Amino acid sequence: MKVAVFSTKAYDRQFLEAANSDKQHDLVFFEPRLTRDTAILAAGFPAVCVFVHDQVDASTLEVLASHGTRLIALRCAGFNNVDLNTAADLGITVVRVPAYSPYGVAEHAVGLILSLNRKIHHAYSRVREGNFSLNRLLGFNLNGRTVGVIGTGKIGLILGQIMKGFGCHLLAYDVYHNPELEALGGKYVELPELFANSDIISLHCPLTEETHHLIDEQAIAQMKPGMMIINTSRGALIDTEAVIEGLKSGQIGYLGVDVYEQESELFFEDLSGEIIQDDVFQHLTTFPNVLITGHQAFFTEEALRNISDTTMSNIADIEQGRPCHNEIRAQPQAENKVLVK
Ligand code: NAD
Repeated sequence: MKVAVFSTKAYDRQFLEAANSDKQHDLVFFEPRLTRDTAILAAGFPAVCVFVHDQVDASTLEVLASHGTRLIALRCAGFNNVDLNTAADLGITVVRVPAYSPYGVAEHAVGLILSLNRKIHHAYSRVREGNFSLNRLLGFNLNGRTVGVIGTGKIGLILGQIMKGFGCHLLAYDVYHNPELEALGGKYVELPELFANSDIISLHCPLTEETHHLIDEQAIAQMKPGMMIINTSRGALIDTEAVIEGLKSGQIGYLGVDVYEQESELFFEDLSGEIIQDDVFQHLTTFPNVLITGHQAFFTEEALRNISDTTMSNIADIEQGRPCHNEIRAQPQAENKVLVK
């Protein structure tokens, strides 16, 4: 099938071409993000391949449909950027890659914890400048500390397993209890108890109406003074302005994030020569106890291979009229509440 690949980076091209080495599909790579204005690039392409920041809203879908597109292949799990109802109305099929990197994301969360605790990012710069002072590099032992895991699905469970290996106690909160987490010795509690007793809180739930700004002023007030928050899930789980206040007062001792509520204007691009206009983000970068990465937790060789292989087979399934278990449709009520998963 002829596929227009949007938001292409060098690594996308490398892994997608490897997954398509039999040339089953005719892949044409475009650097721009898919929006209503760039959708015309896909004229004559029956399939379009997109990533998390492409805008597959109603107006974009209408342009795509009017020029012959019949398939949207997401090379990611989340589909909050796709208007599924309009896609269905226009007869456009939508497929995705549901899970590709649970170990990569959990390991990255642990990387943030270790770096923040032992100030490895500061030590790196200091040593390169010949500064071998230990002042302000004091950390704490993870052994014996309590980690609160919010969302104990695939990634949260792996995070729990790794932290258990460090000798941490595990508290957990989820709408469903995962017996594998309980088998590790993890104890499910309500959020106030988790907030009050955790030295580190790591977020691994999807962004939904219920979890939007889960970490807000009230939640922060219930936490242990000086605790650490880690977010590798979705930016809007955190009320960034409330977290900034928590950092200023010292209630939050450390913040490690791989995601940010307004990240679509920033992440995945080299903006080093530009003036960043997002004052909240810029403020966040000024704290010595904040570590931000640009949505890279998933970014492992295994994940890119998995994403590319699954995307190629999803497209082949649809092209050949086979049922595709990665197809997504507009869902009735309960599932529609999941904005990002
Ligand atoms: P998963 O579906 O396996 O687990 C999510 C868990 O969250 C489930 O156990 C679910 O019951 C729970 N949950 C749902 N609603 C909840 C609520 N209101 N409160 C508490 N828990 C709730 O998903 P996963 O594969 O573990 O992924 C977790 C999240 O990681 C995803 O939603 C996504 O946002 C994020 N993610 C980030 C990256 C990255 O690169 N940073 C990559 C992949 C996924």
